[in-house]
Amino acid sequence: MDGVSDLRQLTLLRRDATYLALDLGDLQAAMTHAVACLDLARTSGDAGLTARAHVAVALVMLDVYDDLGADGHFREADALARAAGEVRDVALVAVNASHYELERGRNAAVAARLLELLRSPFRAGLDSAEPGVPPLSTAFHINFVRGAALALQAGELPPELVEEARAQLPVSVRELRAMQTGPQEVAVLRLQPEILESLVAWELLSGRVPVARALATERVRLARASGSQQALGRALLDRARVGAVDARWADMERDAAAAVGAFQRASLDLLAAQARQVQADAQARQGRFEQAFEVQRDLTRRLEGLYREYFQQGALLREIERQASEAEVRAEAFAEAALRDPLTGAPNRAAAMTHLETLLTRAAGGHPSAAALLDLDHFKGVNDRYGHVVGDAVLVRAVQVLTREIRDHDCLARFGGEEFLLLLSGASLPVARRVCERLRAALDTHDWTDIHPELHVTASFGLTVLTAGDEPTQALQAADQALYAAKAAGRNTVREA
Ligand code: GH3
Ligand code: MG
Ligand code: MG
Repeated sequence: MDGVSDLRQLTLLRRDATYLALDLGDLQAAMTHAVACLDLARTSGDAGLTARAHVAVALVMLDVYDDLGADGHFREADALARAAGEVRDVALVAVNASHYELERGRNAAVAARLLELLRSPFRAGLDSAEPGVPPLSTAFHINFVRGAALALQAGELPPELVEEARAQLPVSVRELRAMQTGPQEVAVLRLQPEILESLVAWELLSGRVPVARALATERVRLARASGSQQALGRALLDRARVGAVDARWADMERDAAAAVGAFQRASLDLLAAQARQVQADAQARQGRFEQAFEVQRDLTRRLEGLYREYFQQGALLREIERQASEAEVRAEAFAEAALRDPLTGAPNRAAAMTHLETLLTRAAGGHPSAAALLDLDHFKGVNDRYGHVVGDAVLVRAVQVLTREIRDHDCLARFGGEEFLLLLSGASLPVARRVCERLRAALDTHDWTDIHPELHVTASFGLTVLTAGDEPTQALQAADQALYAAKAAGRNTVREA
């Protein structure tokens, strides 16, 4: 395996670990995996992969009710996937985001988001299948039917979307019914409770309450058989809501109370709180207001405690996230610093060699460039006469004076003690000669007296054109010989190889 696919594998492993930890309720582990996943994905530079990592982080944030944080990561994921043109990833983001909106009761947002996906070319991503996983279209239809049916029922859908939603609903319902009754793969079987839940919402919207009740009861039966307290609680709560539609208050209360019990056994406090609300409604409907009041009061106290807990977890995740992005910024800064000379801030020898190799490669493609070695004249004397501190100040100033005179894509690197390599991209010999002469004059005419009253600094230049096929050492040797000639000719001058 090469490095890139290694990185990809690691990223996906971290993502899977995130989902596993979420399933197991180990939030701390989920956070750590999700942030590591995002970090790896960013390093890989793969936008689609990074989009999926953002989805993983968003799902962890949702688990601690950091909705704002999750929204941000979904947006980021969506933008990345779209920019990369990854149809499957765009669809994946939309379906995941809609699932969360559904959980939060933002049904109109679900319908709007999924209709937008259908209208776009990214809808093709819904049908792409991965082995062992149901196609995204399955989750799409489940989420769309429930979101759109509930939003229409509550009159929450913006008027301009009503017709479009009404047209798509029967199409999606047909798909769900086929999955409910047709031949089933294990992956689809696992989705039966959610399929039933969506169909219940659809039947209620269509006014067929007894059909809705029968489907809700089927769901309770399936949930009981599964042994999952969460599934059972959700199924009972759903049936309690059907009870509210046809005013069967006693049934509603019984289902809601049983749902509270199931959620409590699974330590799902927030869902238990939702079920208690429904229970209180049912009691109030039966005129038992005092009981309903007590349930609501108890709820307020519990929710305050929950709020504090979730708030702290959300804050922890944001802190980990902040540290991760800080680490990234620092890594970049270190990589950048490794290529700079600490005294003058100029690119160092390593950076210059890389740049030189690039220019030699381009020379082979017919792009002419030039290089010059320049060396400060009698610099030992500067140190001896005025001291090392003045010597250092001269080096810093020389870089400032010289850098002002070159273009952005040229490079002036500190190559050794008081020796610099000048790389002029795209310069022919006459152009390079003029630039070197300009740099020589800039040093010669610069007013150095603020560093030391008697100071005057010059440099000698050895210039060469970069010839296709040359090794870096050959180019440097040519420049060095020219520099030697400049020194021999009396210094403060430019010579060519
Ligand atoms: P020439 O004109 O022939 O180049 O004479 P020169 O004195 O400049 O040449 P030489 O190579 O003999 O001396 C270079 C001096 O540069 C010696 C060394 O102490 C000084 N030098 C190298 N790096 C630094 C530095 O970072 N700071 C200071 N202050 N001096 C440095
Ligand atoms: Mg020198
Ligand atoms: Mg020297």
